[in-house]
Amino acid sequence: MISSKKYDVVIIGGGPAGSTAATLLAMSGHSVLVLEKAKFPRDHVGESLLPFCYPLFEQLGILDHMKKTYVRKPGVRFLDTDGNHYTTWCFGHVMEGPDSLSFHVPRNVFDQMLLENSRKHGTTVEEETKVTRVDLDDPDGGVEVTAMKASGATVKYHGRFLLDASGRDTFMANRNGWKKPHPQLDRTALSTHWMGGNQLGGIAEGLLQILYLGGDKQGWIWVIPILEGRLSVGVVLNGSYIHEQKKKLLPTHGKEWQVALYKQELMESPFLRNVLDGARIVQPLMVNGNFSYFIDSDKKHGGNFALIGDASTFIDPIFASGVYLSMNSARMVADALHVRFTEGEEQGEAAMDRAYAQINGAYKFVNKAIMYFYNPQAINLAQAGYAAPALENHQYYEDIMALGHYLLAGDFFERHKEYSEFLDILQDERLFKRYKKFVIERPEFQADTCGVARSSVFPAEPPVLPVMQH
Ligand SMILES: Cc1cc2nc3c(=O)[nH]c(=O)nc-3n(C[C@H](O)[C@H](O)[C@H](O)COP(=O)(O)OP(=O)(O)OC[C@H]3O[C@@H](n4cnc5c(N)ncnc54)[C@H](O)[C@@H]3O)c2cc1C
Repeated sequence: MISSKKYDVVIIGGGPAGSTAATLLAMSGHSVLVLEKAKFPRDHVGESLLPFCYPLFEQLGILDHMKKTYVRKPGVRFLDTDGNHYTTWCFGHVMEGPDSLSFHVPRNVFDQMLLENSRKHGTTVEEETKVTRVDLDDPDGGVEVTAMKASGATVKYHGRFLLDASGRDTFMANRNGWKKPHPQLDRTALSTHWMGGNQLGGIAEGLLQILYLGGDKQGWIWVIPILEGRLSVGVVLNGSYIHEQKKKLLPTHGKEWQVALYKQELMESPFLRNVLDGARIVQPLMVNGNFSYFIDSDKKHGGNFALIGDASTFIDPIFASGVYLSMNSARMVADALHVRFTEGEEQGEAAMDRAYAQINGAYKFVNKAIMYFYNPQAINLAQAGYAAPALENHQYYEDIMALGHYLLAGDFFERHKEYSEFLDILQDERLFKRYKKFVIERPEFQADTCGVARSSVFPAEPPVLPVMQH
């Protein structure tokens, strides 16, 4: 079957990147088709969002709904595995106003809300429609996209431009051999949701908790208060450590070895033993294997296509940056496409080049920050607010400390060069000593609170989570 309509833009995937681009393009008067293989709501990892998403939510017209619906996130608490050393990075230390409180979102509900919002603004969305082939050399200069419906029927669609927002399926990159695994980041995440337990260490006020796992594990644990009384807890581990543990756990646990590994890692932390005391798992375990990869920047866009969101690169989720990187890249690419459709191809291409210069800069910087995080020689962010020494050049270190907060808040697109310098400082022992000296004088760094009232964190109208078929 051939769909008779020719769209301005055909988008593969209705996740945050696809639905953001779709909404913004539709708002500007362009015709948009989103082809999504799943039936929404569908489960997804990636539940803790950055404050820099705020202007995007406003532009998409969903900010008020977000404020009423989702748990607020005042910052991030980084802890050593034993829970003895920690640093609380509150966005409110450096940001004034409502955007110093970010959000945690159950992704099945959040992604469905974004996709429905794109429909509301005029996008055509076809769910349960899996793209199987793309032809970029359509005779009239556009693209032909072939997809398979849940019924097994094949449909062909036409557009002037293709956006690949297929997430970690990386539709275009897979078919063209562009995807490169990140050589140093062979990590896998095991995660699920828990009900009950104890809201310790700032969980009751919405702080994202990140626990370092040192040694061979080269990993970390996240705890996200996703709803009142419900926690998302994930463990990220190095591939070779998982391989070793699998050999040990298989004989006793059989096909449940991943669940056994997940619980084993959580229960090694005294902090988590206390948090999860009395809690129960309420969802099947999600496994996201070897997730980091990149695609060379010259492959990310061409004459009539562009890759956005995870379809264009994904780097380890430690800084909870994926949704923001994806949505903001989608916004920039949508703006460049608007230029193309209204001012011509030449101007459009120049706008696209400018957009990707910023997008690539942001991803490069996030990669540097993540490599810093995993460097065993570097001082970690749990210790960055801990320890003592001397205070010199106060203003300089004040600025540097603010940079650390902005990094965690998501300011990577405009100022990645300055933040790169911040990371160099953390890696230089001499400079770091002075930095510690400055930081120790700030008691708020050592607190396990950002001073936000519980009533401002948990929403008045929390979402009812859908019952998922697993
Ligand atoms: C373990 C882990 C933890 C994470 N934690 C965080 C976090 O705390 N905060 C954060 O911001 N980010 C986090 N992320 C990253 C975040 O999940 C992603 O960056 C984000 O979901 C990317 O959005 P996207 O729209 O590009 O892709 P997706 O959200 O994956 O959406 C892609 C969509 O495309 C559809 N699709 C795929 N192939 C096809 C096809 N052939 N035809 C039609 N449809 C197709 C899929 O069904 C899917 O709905 C995490 C990631 C991992 C792996």
